[in-house]
Amino acid sequence: MRRTEMTPQDSSPAVDAMGVSRSCIDRGDLVDKADDDHARWMHEALTLARTMQGLVWPNPAVGCIVVNDGLAVGRGRTQIGGRPHAERVALENAKERAQGATLYVTLEPCCHWGKTPPCTDAIIAAGVTAVFAALQDPDARVNGEGFATLRRAGIDVNVGLGADMAAHIVRGFFKRIATGRPFVSVVPSTIESRGRVPSTYDGAAFTGENGSLRLLLRAGNTFREIELMSIRQAEHLLTYCGRIGLTTLLVMDSDPLARHLRDAGLVDSCSD
Ligand SMILES: [Zn+2]
Repeated sequence: MRRTEMTPQDSSPAVDAMGVSRSCIDRGDLVDKADDDHARWMHEALTLARTMQGLVWPNPAVGCIVVNDGLAVGRGRTQIGGRPHAERVALENAKERAQGATLYVTLEPCCHWGKTPPCTDAIIAAGVTAVFAALQDPDARVNGEGFATLRRAGIDVNVGLGADMAAHIVRGFFKRIATGRPFVSVVPSTIESRGRVPSTYDGAAFTGENGSLRLLLRAGNTFREIELMSIRQAEHLLTYCGRIGLTTLLVMDSDPLARHLRDAGLVDSCSD
């Protein structure tokens, strides 16, 4: 049992406070096994999500597993650049084996038309009967409506399993939704790290030799460097980063920018 990982944000008459179906609870000693299985699959989905941190901005890194009859029949993760979404990839892998399956996903499935059709449509069309989601998506276009859409289609929806780890993975996405700015980490400077961006960050900001602010933006396995001639203040830099979609930003401790950000109270973390 990994009860400490579960912090349900949602409730449904069909589930108890731990997000476990009441029909499981009535089966006595099967409860522990069911709980462990759900936690194990969600852990796998979270592991998939983690591998895409830094690669999917402006979207969140999400992992998804489709399980049928105790077997994983489809795995997916948000693709580089943010599309396709994890659920679509997993369902395409599963094909007809998604019929009657349980889908584990680290963030609420989208229910709006963006550059791709809603994932809720794909989940319903595939015949999935139960969904375990770690977190509700605070994006105003989703924000619980994804779960409501699935429930209206008769799908059993459980929310909260693995929420702590999922929230850590998408902390930058959530920060940007809430404030319009990325999650800022100041990290110790080392010769090895200078000029590089650790894999979990979308980009890095630093002060150039001429005193101007510069951004190193990750695009898949490559980087693009831009100089921000007109931006002088740390706060404006973060607003700009949020506007272009960055969710996590790294700043080296030795850079003068780190002190400016600290003085302005704009640093979220001093290490990862
Ligand atoms: Zn989606």
